[in-house]
Amino acid sequence: MTLTRDDWKARAAALKPETRMFIDGEFVDALSGATFPTINPATGEVVAEVARGTAADVDRAVASAKRAFRDGRWSRLDPRDRMTVLSRFADLIEANAESFALLDTLDMGKPISDMLNIDVPGSVSNIRFFAEVVDKTEGAVTNTTASALHYILRQPLGVCGIVVPWNYPLMMAAWKLGPALAAGNSVVLKPAEQSPLSALLLAKLFMEAGGPAGILNVVTGFGEETGKPLALHMDVDKIGFTGSGEVGKLMLIYAGQSNMKRVTNECGGKSPQVILADCEDLDTAAATAVSAIYGNQGEVCSAGSRLLVERPIYDAFIEKFTEVAKTAHQPGDPLDPATTMGPLVTPEQQDRVLRYIDIGQKEGANLAFGGAVPAGLNAGCYVEPTLFTNVANSMRIAQEEIFGPVASVIPVDNVDHAISVANDTIYGLAASIWTSNVKTAHRFARDIEAGIVWVNAYEAGDATTPWGGFKQSGNGRDKCLEALSQYSQTKSVWIDLR
Ligand code: NAD
Repeated sequence: MTLTRDDWKARAAALKPETRMFIDGEFVDALSGATFPTINPATGEVVAEVARGTAADVDRAVASAKRAFRDGRWSRLDPRDRMTVLSRFADLIEANAESFALLDTLDMGKPISDMLNIDVPGSVSNIRFFAEVVDKTEGAVTNTTASALHYILRQPLGVCGIVVPWNYPLMMAAWKLGPALAAGNSVVLKPAEQSPLSALLLAKLFMEAGGPAGILNVVTGFGEETGKPLALHMDVDKIGFTGSGEVGKLMLIYAGQSNMKRVTNECGGKSPQVILADCEDLDTAAATAVSAIYGNQGEVCSAGSRLLVERPIYDAFIEKFTEVAKTAHQPGDPLDPATTMGPLVTPEQQDRVLRYIDIGQKEGANLAFGGAVPAGLNAGCYVEPTLFTNVANSMRIAQEEIFGPVASVIPVDNVDHAISVANDTIYGLAASIWTSNVKTAHRFARDIEAGIVWVNAYEAGDATTPWGGFKQSGNGRDKCLEALSQYSQTKSVWIDLR
């Protein structure tokens, strides 16, 4: 049955989400009893009052995770059994797709169709991928001297703190839970304060799937009050972080101030989309470029926010881009399945984006379209899809992560010029090039400073494709087998045979 906007509204009105933290296999209030509201950015209404954790709650969660890790209920469980639990976990997430869709849409404003078509399937396939590899990874025997046997074991790290942002609440958690749990770790998950509800449903489903108590704990609350004590905790062995560069840098400091825990950071970006004059299909390039910046309201780490267009096709590309943008991502009620763009996550984020639009105009860029709060949508945190043309790469709108639906077009002379402009940023998450020349494509892929490169595509990939950045976009890799190795460590074992 295809649900209508009225159906979703009725379900939203009847929703009774879990709002307590999940520690040691049960839902519990914060020790202080405090709560905080999570607000629907489409309406300004309170969705739920959620437990507001502090260091004391983090201590409880970490103690439970450590106890569970040490007694081997998960870390030494037969790999086939761990695999079965994780496969069931993926099935249950899939079976609860509508609940997850509703929770994240109400919390952070993403279109409900995006949840059903992108976030939930992306989360399920990621957990399945890691479920499947549990008993297919191997250690090694090295070719050392004949008088000894030397082997390398791959073992879990212990307690992993996972701290995630609000832009893909379910999916960012799933991307990290997959490898962390598959490797045999215990986890304390800290969702963003703007979007805590789906993480609590995840914890419940992990237990329903047969996951033991203490292996997946969820602590809700603010960054300073829960994320920080988690990252400073002496019994946490790793922080898997996705969020802003500012907080990513703090995570490294917290690790240094505590126990030298491992930190993998997945942070922001200012990703270039290069469109060359020899692009075979400018219509597809323009349509893809529109989604690459306006999809998920532009609140995407890999958003293609800088469009580097070769001069001979500059005007033609902007014309096509503008034509598609008029219809492809237009703001509306995120509970309407036809909506392709929701509100921004909070009034603060809306202010930030509007401020950048003001900065762009003051810097002398040409505001080609958008730039305002859409008419009739004043109750929510909406901003129109916005395009600046004739942007110089030195402008703040071309250098800083806006994290909203704002694209900047920069004219370039040729591919070499495009590469030098593309690389002229502190970030290095993703990049794309549209060209029909195979050599140009490979040279671009070789020389671009980015962890993810698309040729004649954008945002393509699946659980097998590594996700992570160069430079200040971070040092970790989500998805793929490399993620599994980042949640495990090697042990070198030498046996004397003499
Ligand atoms: P944020 O850094 O403000 O918050 C992320 C998480 O960190 C939240 O859970 C928050 O509560 C917590 N936090 C905040 N301050 C903290 C502190 N002092 N100590 C410990 N934890 C703290 O980021 P955000 O605004 O939620 O998310 C947007 C950012 O995330 C953007 O920069 C975006 O590019 C990035 N992001 C990156 C990826 C990627 O894969 N590279 C994916 C999604 C989002």
